[in-house]
Amino acid sequence: MPESPPMSLPDAYEAFADHHRESSLLQSCASLLSWDQETHMPKGGAGNRAQQLTLLSGMVHRRQTSEEYGELLAAAEDCGLIADEHPAAAANLRVARRDYDRSRRIPPALVEEKTGATVLARRAWVDARANDDFPSFRPHLERIFDLSRQIAEAIGSESGDPYDALLDAYEPYATAEGIEAVFAPLREAHISLLDRILGSDRSVDVRMLHRDFPQRAQAALAREAGSAIGFDFERGRIDETAHPFCMAISPDDVRLTVRYERDFFNPAFFGLLHEAGHGMYAQGLPAKQHGLPAGTACSFGIHESQSRMWENLVGRSRSFWRWCYPKAQEAFPEALVNVAEEDFYRAINEVKPSLIRVEADEVTYNLHIMLRFELERALLSGELDAGDLPGAWNETFEKYLRISPDNDADGCLQDIHWSAGLIGYFPTYTLGNVYAAQIYEAAERDLGELEPQFERGEFKPLKEWLNRNIHDHGQIHPPRELVEVVTGSPPHHDALVRQLESKYLRS
Ligand code: ZN
Repeated sequence: MPESPPMSLPDAYEAFADHHRESSLLQSCASLLSWDQETHMPKGGAGNRAQQLTLLSGMVHRRQTSEEYGELLAAAEDCGLIADEHPAAAANLRVARRDYDRSRRIPPALVEEKTGATVLARRAWVDARANDDFPSFRPHLERIFDLSRQIAEAIGSESGDPYDALLDAYEPYATAEGIEAVFAPLREAHISLLDRILGSDRSVDVRMLHRDFPQRAQAALAREAGSAIGFDFERGRIDETAHPFCMAISPDDVRLTVRYERDFFNPAFFGLLHEAGHGMYAQGLPAKQHGLPAGTACSFGIHESQSRMWENLVGRSRSFWRWCYPKAQEAFPEALVNVAEEDFYRAINEVKPSLIRVEADEVTYNLHIMLRFELERALLSGELDAGDLPGAWNETFEKYLRISPDNDADGCLQDIHWSAGLIGYFPTYTLGNVYAAQIYEAAERDLGELEPQFERGEFKPLKEWLNRNIHDHGQIHPPRELVEVVTGSPPHHDALVRQLESKYLRS
């Protein structure tokens, strides 16, 4: 019998897919310009770059909300492609339909108004933070939350909770109530774990992390580790920036960025492992579906699960350092000459409440996030008045982290998110940690204990397992369903608590 030709999809579907792919291509040009803006562009280029990015994002938005695209989408839907036979095509249509309907519901004037408001808010935030002047930022914060509420109402949500409409942009199908169900027990467990750690009289010496770490040696070690865990430098690169990120132009062109501090080992090394985790996800997405939802990352939370897994579950494990520490000593002979591996391991895992989220350790980090989740929900619902934010911040901070900031610059003004209009984004960081812990346990069920492998510098089994179980799926499953398919249970705080307790209380 002759081999049957590859199953072709109906023309109407292909026309929809072509349109979508072209929009993604246009979007990738904007991504490249953003990457350049944060890494190489001279300061003077800012004005022109802003125009370029506004032009491109406007073009993408018009294409993806146009009547013409709506007709292509509807015609493709009429082809009756079902998930059992065409999982990728069915997912592409499902996600495209949700995105289309969502953006069509938001009045263009409201989008423009919010864009304008965030430009002003961003500027005001920079000054307010520099001068520790919350009152000057307050009207901008009110405006952003007010416009976000209007947008949320225009989008609508099943629950009627405006927060859910915003959250959906980052974590599709997630609800504030569902997240709270995971966060509430996690919060209890974290506070109790923190108290037990703080109550033990074990002190950790971290001074060796603040010795002299020449940048070239930092770059070489970070690159060696990134390559060892599986980031492909034939299809990616590293550059320097002020606020590190990972930008995928395509699965074959993934840009990682790092920030070096000469007198602090952690930011560049762990930052690189983190961004490489994001980068390996981007490189692992199915090439055949590139430019379509099935070739796009599942959600912000799932993305973060990949970065956190490599940064923390792998990169801060004892066995990782059994493999990597001799390399680090070789790279920094002066700084680490008399430092025992165990002391170094304890230093990079020091748990200590601190004011700044991005500097927080594994145990306190999620408390920073839960506080933000709580406060932004209250601000959006109107339960919390913007003027009362500093007080609410400090009070909750004290309750969760046992310390509290004595100024707003290190308190409610520290993050860029709200000034940028990103509301509903914060919880995805902690969801990432929750997912990572569950996914890691599932990987161990399939692959056996992973730590002995790390000790030998073997990271490929885990990386390829993630390729098969997470990356390959793109957006075929919504995030909650993906976690369930891969781990056997819906998102749950148990695995994360188990891992943190065994790491910090029993070793
Ligand atoms: Zn990240």
